[in-house]
Amino acid sequence: MTRLPWPALAATALIAVLAILAPWLGLPNPVTMDVPHRLAGPSAAHWLGQDEFGRDVLTRLIWGARVSLSVAVSAAALACLIGTALGITGGYLRGIAEILTLRSIDVLLCFPPLLLALLVVTLLGPGATTLIPVLALVYLPGFTRVAYAGVLTARSQDYVEAMRVLGAGSGRIMLRTILPNIGGPVLVQFSLAMAAAVVLESGLSFLGLGVVPPAPSWGLMIGAARATMAQAPLLLLWPCLALTLTVLVMNALCDGLRDAVDPHPTYRPAARRLLDAIAPGLLPTPKAVLDLAHLTVEIDTPAGPIHPVRDVSLQVFPGETLAIVGESGSGKSVTSLAITGLLPGAAHVTEGAAFLDGTDLLRLPEESLRKLRGDKIAMVFQDPGSSLNPVHRIGAQIAEAIRAHRPLSDKAARAEAIALLRRVGLPDPDSRARAYPHELSGGQRQRVMIAIAIANHPSLLIADEPTTALDVTIQAQILELLSDLKRERGLALLFITHALPVVAEIADRVAVMYAGEIVETGPTAEVFLAPHHPYTAALLRSAPDEEGPPPVGIPGIVPPPTALPPGCTFAPRCPRAIPECTAAPPALRSAGAGRLTRCIRWNA
Ligand code: SF4
Repeated sequence: MTRLPWPALAATALIAVLAILAPWLGLPNPVTMDVPHRLAGPSAAHWLGQDEFGRDVLTRLIWGARVSLSVAVSAAALACLIGTALGITGGYLRGIAEILTLRSIDVLLCFPPLLLALLVVTLLGPGATTLIPVLALVYLPGFTRVAYAGVLTARSQDYVEAMRVLGAGSGRIMLRTILPNIGGPVLVQFSLAMAAAVVLESGLSFLGLGVVPPAPSWGLMIGAARATMAQAPLLLLWPCLALTLTVLVMNALCDGLRDAVDPHPTYRPAARRLLDAIAPGLLPTPKAVLDLAHLTVEIDTPAGPIHPVRDVSLQVFPGETLAIVGESGSGKSVTSLAITGLLPGAAHVTEGAAFLDGTDLLRLPEESLRKLRGDKIAMVFQDPGSSLNPVHRIGAQIAEAIRAHRPLSDKAARAEAIALLRRVGLPDPDSRARAYPHELSGGQRQRVMIAIAIANHPSLLIADEPTTALDVTIQAQILELLSDLKRERGLALLFITHALPVVAEIADRVAVMYAGEIVETGPTAEVFLAPHHPYTAALLRSAPDEEGPPPVGIPGIVPPPTALPPGCTFAPRCPRAIPECTAAPPALRSAGAGRLTRCIRWNA
């Protein structure tokens, strides 16, 4: 278990103890007025001053914490219990339970959270006891979706299948395998819901729809302080400060706990998620390892130039896997070749930038780019058979890759090569290092390719269909190896594939490409659960699922770059197309936090 987040635990405990012990701390009564001393500044008797009715501000802050925290914790716990149970039921039982769960959650998600809360509070009347079910209702869908996605992912794992084979019942499988696997994401969701509930409770109280005066509440204090801001500006500062610090501490605690209990930490920009939830757009974008902007590739043909990749922008962060998925001809491999400067002769980049750790790869001379390949950028290709030189031993090929970028002796490079073979899971690495490629299986050769790729500690690893040529069991092992290496080394992994099950297995985020453009991006679980582009939805329906309905093919073919249709390039195959779709090429548009879609009807 990772170390517990002691600073956050101590800070949370301090806030909780103060809130719980408020009646016994010997503080003045939080509602007793002292009108002659209204708006008095800080003094020895009133450390933070007195409010518009002369009440002690520190007392009301501490009692306000009691109210805010009890409402937020109760609401988050209620939402967690019901939402997680719904998600697990839908994800595990599938069928009618799944349809009912997802459709009822969809209905709730149709309402913006604040509007939903306002609607219910207006119907039921204000008050702290009303706020708990209202906030629980608002945050319940998040738990359902997280639990549902977690169960779907966990139940497809080999170890769950292994327990079934061993004769374990559903209850035991649930307790021993699925629940531990969704515990981490649910805990993080709990932290976000709790923090957001504190903010929403304060917002509703501020609007007069939450806690009823004269009971102390941070929202009421902010509302009252606003009216007297000119005379006593500090009155506004204290509740805002209390609110902000409490929310930060809560999220630090729960995220730290998640780290401690989750044996498989993945890319989780926790502070960003927290502040994005509280104040969207407040934080600048974290530094991406690869920042590709507006990439356009042109190929000269006798009939004139064509553009197999147009205006492609994406970012990959340290420790993250971004999967580019799409049918053949969608432009995903051309994109990766453009990034690495390996486009074939007739193709060239006409627009865009590809920053790798701040260096624009598209503007680098070939010699500088060559030095970066195999060093800062590494690639793993589909066919390890043709990527390895058949006349050289495995160990020598890895040592050569090391020595191409680092001045190591022969002996040191060979020792490092053996260590790398051991790390990528090749049995008996000493003797395997002396083997020729044809003496290894396909899976072993791909492990060697991965060893070569990571030999010089790259920041970015591009894996282009690395498992397509392998059988299913080996495929799973290679995916697991890539995931482990990504976590272990903080690699940014750009994974190119046409297989959606592979995306579900490995990717944190997904970018769906169609006819040379990105048509949808977002966190993998969210995109799979609720696609916002008809092409993504069609791709998902066309993927084989042992337990779901039979796959449905997508009618038609991807249009070639020589004959792109007007407007939306998916329109000729789209069941939802309307005349407006062909009027002009749709731009990528925001479709919720972290999501983009190129469909004009995504929310119609
Ligand atoms: S823009 Fe129109 S044609 Fe294109 S995907 Fe959306 S609905 Fe279909």
